[in-house]
Amino acid sequence: MPMNRRELLAASAAVGVAAAVPSGARQSVPKAKLLLSSQEGIIPARDLAERLAKMEKWGFDGIEVGGGGFPGRVEELQKALANSKLKISAICAGTPGGPLINEDPETRKKAVAAIKELLTCAGELKSTGVIIVPAFNGQTTLNHVEARKALMDLLPEIGEHGAKVGGRILMEPLNRGEAWFLRLLADAAAMCREVNSPGVAMMGDFYHMNIEEPSDMGAFISGGKWLHHVHLASRKRVLPGQDERDFTNGFKGLKLIGYQDYCSLECGCDGDREVEIPKAVKFLRGQWAKA
Ligand code: MG
Repeated sequence: MPMNRRELLAASAAVGVAAAVPSGARQSVPKAKLLLSSQEGIIPARDLAERLAKMEKWGFDGIEVGGGGFPGRVEELQKALANSKLKISAICAGTPGGPLINEDPETRKKAVAAIKELLTCAGELKSTGVIIVPAFNGQTTLNHVEARKALMDLLPEIGEHGAKVGGRILMEPLNRGEAWFLRLLADAAAMCREVNSPGVAMMGDFYHMNIEEPSDMGAFISGGKWLHHVHLASRKRVLPGQDERDFTNGFKGLKLIGYQDYCSLECGCDGDREVEIPKAVKFLRGQWAKA
């Protein structure tokens, strides 16, 4: 069938993208799936049991929990999950015990200990991993080169512990307003590649990516096998579908790498959550189908 110019360009772009993924990876990637999760605080509910029941009804697959209260919360969560189809996606910790990147060795030691404890909990809960920010702006006086060395010196020990307990850290690139040190998914993936440990991985957040990444699809392709979690939010950091932010380009990238982990809401909400969250779930499933 003859193609018009627009169809020809679209077809060549698709071939170009496929060619950009290494052929070995292309042959071996499983079919990607959209597993939807949400941070627990976003879902209105009186308690965990009600929250899980509501999320199941709304079509979620996982729940992302905050990093506070561990290891005490493990048992509570295991009991609640026994009566639910949902699984724990990630534990969102940020900088538990303080920043990993810091000029003071005691501060670094405290951070490593706190992360190791959470990794053990993540393993017990069979979660995807523990979300970590190496350092927020203002948490260190080290320059970029010193900061990277400080982090790279700590990651092998963290990775080794993660591999032992079945947990992994998920380094999260943020936008420059929050963390100049780590802004790009490719940079996070490059650090994972250097450490080369199953306990050290990374993630992407559509809100920060909209500010920093030239291409959602390119960012996720760079993340590749090291990408194990995704945060979902619109341009204004409210629910997907509540403004013009497009998710199809990023979802195409997730499909190309055969993504198997969760995409999890981390955002505010314009309007009534009981109405708007199910709408966002439907919108995201639609974007995935279109991608
Ligand atoms: Mg995030």
